[in-house]
Amino acid sequence: MPIKQLFLCVFLLLSSLISQSNHIQIISIDNISYISLNEFIKTTNFKYKFFDDNNKAIIYHKKNRIVLSGNSSFFLINDDVFHLYTNIIDNKNDFYIPVKSFIMHLKENHLLDNIYLDSSEELLIIDFPDYNISNYFLSERGNGFSITLNSSKTFDEDLIALWITDNNWLSLSIPGAIIDTSSIASIPLKSPIEEIKTVQMKNSAQISFLLNIIPDDFELSSYDNKMVISLYTAQELNAQKIKEEKKKYIIDTVVLDAGHGGKDPGACVQSCSIQEKTITLAVTKKIGEELEKLGMKVIYTRQDDRFVPLNQRTHIANSNDGDLFISIHVNSISNSPRTKGFETYLLRIGKTDDAIKEVEKRENSVIDKYENSSLLYEKLSKINATIIQDANAKQSAHLANLIQQQLAISTNDKLNRGVKQAGFQVLWGVAMPNVLVELGFITNKDERKNLTSSKYQIKIAKSIVNAIMMYKQNYEQNILK
Ligand SMILES: [Zn+2]
Repeated sequence: MPIKQLFLCVFLLLSSLISQSNHIQIISIDNISYISLNEFIKTTNFKYKFFDDNNKAIIYHKKNRIVLSGNSSFFLINDDVFHLYTNIIDNKNDFYIPVKSFIMHLKENHLLDNIYLDSSEELLIIDFPDYNISNYFLSERGNGFSITLNSSKTFDEDLIALWITDNNWLSLSIPGAIIDTSSIASIPLKSPIEEIKTVQMKNSAQISFLLNIIPDDFELSSYDNKMVISLYTAQELNAQKIKEEKKKYIIDTVVLDAGHGGKDPGACVQSCSIQEKTITLAVTKKIGEELEKLGMKVIYTRQDDRFVPLNQRTHIANSNDGDLFISIHVNSISNSPRTKGFETYLLRIGKTDDAIKEVEKRENSVIDKYENSSLLYEKLSKINATIIQDANAKQSAHLANLIQQQLAISTNDKLNRGVKQAGFQVLWGVAMPNVLVELGFITNKDERKNLTSSKYQIKIAKSIVNAIMMYKQNYEQNILK
């Protein structure tokens, strides 16, 4: 083996150790070096089409198109014309391409970077580098994001430079890295990464990520064939959390409790032909419809004529994360047919004025009369109920006042019997501001007529909705400042 070829072999062996190397035999004609197009295709594995009839070949590489024509010294890279100085030789289903000018243009256009003639100019060498960084993935963390670059080896953390520019490019310079640019570019971009740039240099590579967030801090760790860039965005996430936290304080779910139902008619008059449960359901549904029109979420403890135990009503309210609980009732009084008007009750555990005891006793009587389970209510201790109620007392009172005010405006101020307090069992343990509205007395002739009229029901339903929406507005304005 001649010395020259021996050197070449050693060279090829060495270069194949550091990368996957391929070579094409140079064809020398009249002292001009050519390569065979077919050999070039075979070696590079590029896709191509040969158009025999019009003497043309198109090579496809990445997103580029190289168009060669037989017997022409010009060729195209995409739509740009380049000159080869010497004609391409048409050689029966193959082209001989003037190699020196051809590879110069390929390099200049970054179609192939590692392509060169060996020193003897007998071979064209094409290196396909062993990429050691070919992909990355993004993951979200509680306090930010991390970008993980997978590599075929573990790079020395201390040699890697990581920085972020004022215009939010996060860059990583990795000595010894060979980045597979097209593979990286093929990974779909995901927020917070807006754009990726890679620069391959002789002894290092740089990869840059354009971010749409400004990290408060960032750090790099390199281990187990990967480099992990941690981006901490605590402040941004905190702001997000505060927003979510505030959302919790938006009043958007109202629990409507139509008093009584099913076997429990509530108050009833005229041989029980007019029953409280019917009026409460009708008004409750009208309140609900109005609220839903305004985009509020409505939870009903009942939507038809059924019996729902009091503790079940509380459970429905609490388990649906209601923001407000409104129990709708109708009053009655024996031996006082002239008594009329509406009143709104707040839960007060313990003391109850004598005058109110009758209402309280009647509204709670369902437990003894229909539920046979008064023991059940002892489960919720007085202390617990008091704590829950105290937490909502101020808000409940505010809502009660608004309801009284709005009902007075839409009906008659003379009917305003005010805000009162009593130990209504249905309000025990309701973990949200809560009130019980007694819409009027069915024992009074005028009010009975009103309360059973759909028109009046709509009027008072709208008043209660107004009060709820005013409450919502006041509350959110204070909270969401
Ligand atoms: Zn009632």
